[in-house]
Amino acid sequence: MIPYSKQTIEEVDLEAVTEVLNSSWLTQGPKVPEFENHLSEAFRVKRAVACSSGTAALQLAYASLGVNSESIGIVPSITFAATANAYRYLGAEVILCDVNEEDGIINLASLEEKLIHARKNHKFNIGVISPVSLAGKMAPLEKIYKLAKEYDFLVVEDASHSPGAYSENNIGQKTYSASCKWTEAATVSFHPVKHICCGEGGAVLTHSLDLGRKAERLRSHGINRNTEQAEQRPWYYEQVELGWNFRLTDIQAALGIEQLKRLNTSIQRRHAIAHEYDIAFSEAEFREKIDRPTLLDGHAWHLYVIRFKQQGIRDQAYHYLKEKGIITQIHYIPVYKHPYHAGHYLEKDFPGAEAYFSSCLSIPMHPSLTGKEQEDVIKALGDFLR
Ligand SMILES: *Cc1c(COP(=O)(O)O)cnc(C)c1O
Repeated sequence: MIPYSKQTIEEVDLEAVTEVLNSSWLTQGPKVPEFENHLSEAFRVKRAVACSSGTAALQLAYASLGVNSESIGIVPSITFAATANAYRYLGAEVILCDVNEEDGIINLASLEEKLIHARKNHKFNIGVISPVSLAGKMAPLEKIYKLAKEYDFLVVEDASHSPGAYSENNIGQKTYSASCKWTEAATVSFHPVKHICCGEGGAVLTHSLDLGRKAERLRSHGINRNTEQAEQRPWYYEQVELGWNFRLTDIQAALGIEQLKRLNTSIQRRHAIAHEYDIAFSEAEFREKIDRPTLLDGHAWHLYVIRFKQQGIRDQAYHYLKEKGIITQIHYIPVYKHPYHAGHYLEKDFPGAEAYFSSCLSIPMHPSLTGKEQEDVIKALGDFLR
C-alpha cells in the first residue's frame, strides 16, 4: 500500500523519546519550552505555545484574541472542519467563504463580500478571518491583511499545511507561512500526516507576548502561577479564567524537536517529488486530461493535488488507484456539506468550492515515498486515464 501521506520516523527520534521516558518528566518538564524555543526560531516569531493538537491551537489562538459567543469567524469552505469548529467551541458564529476554483484557497472577492455583509448585518464584538495556506501554497496574506484592516477584522493563519512555505510580492519581499508578518497569530499541527510529527500536537505562533501568555494560561486550565505570593508560597497558584488541559507532553515535544531539525530537508524531498510528477505529467499522453499544481519555489508541498478535467471521474480514479494499492484522499469535503454545518448554507453560493471539491485528488506525497513507488503512481494514473 502506498499512502497519500505518512510520518517519517528515524533512529534519532526513537532515542529522543526513550530519553524522556527514562527521565523524571513525562509532561510539564523541560522539553516543551525547549521545543517552543526551536519553533519560534524556525517560524521567525517571538513566541510559540505548544499544545495538544492543531485544533487546540486554533481554539487557543481564537480564545486568546477574545473570541466568544458574540464573535464571528470567517473560514474558507475548503479546509479541514477544525478551522471552523474551533470557533464553535467558543460559541462564535462561522461565516463560510468561497475559494478559488484553481487552488482551493480563500477567494478575495468572496471574502470582501462576506466582510461587507458581516459589517452591515451582524452585531459582533470581534471578527477574525482564518485563511488556510492549503496543500502548502501560501494564502494571499498581505491582501487579506489589508481587507482585514479596512473592515476591522483580525487574522489567524491556519498554517497546518504550510510550515516552510513562503510567497514573494512583486518587489521581491518574502512572507513566510506562520511568521505572523500579516496576521495576529498562526497555528500549526503536528499530526503524523503533517510536516512535523508529534503523534498529536500543535502550536500557536505570534509576535505578541501578551497573546502568547494568554494562550499559555488557557492551555493549562486558566491557571496563573506567577503571582505576588510565589516567593513565600511556591505551591500557590490561582485559576483566573476558564481554560482547558491542552498540554503537549514532553514525550511528544522530544519527538517534535528531532522532526523540526529535518523540516528543511524533508521539504526539499517534497519539492523533488513534485518536480518528478510535473515532468511525468507534462510528457504523459493524458496530460490534457488533468490539471496539475504550479511549481512554486515557496510551496511546502504538504499535498500534491491533481484535478480531473472530465466531470464525475474523480471517484472512479480513487477506486481504481485503491485497487492498485495506492491510497489517495480528497482534501476537502467542503465544510458546508457536513451535516453539523449544513442547513446554514446553500451550495450554489460556493461555485469555486464545488468545482474544486468535485475534481480534486491528493496523490501520494511524503518524504519517504520512493522513486519506484512514485513511478507506480504515475503508471496507474496513466492506465486509468487511457
Ligand atoms: C490537520 C489540520 C487541522 C487540525 O490539526 P489536528 O492536529 O489534527 O487537530 C486544522 N486545520 C487544517 C487545515 C489541518 O490540515
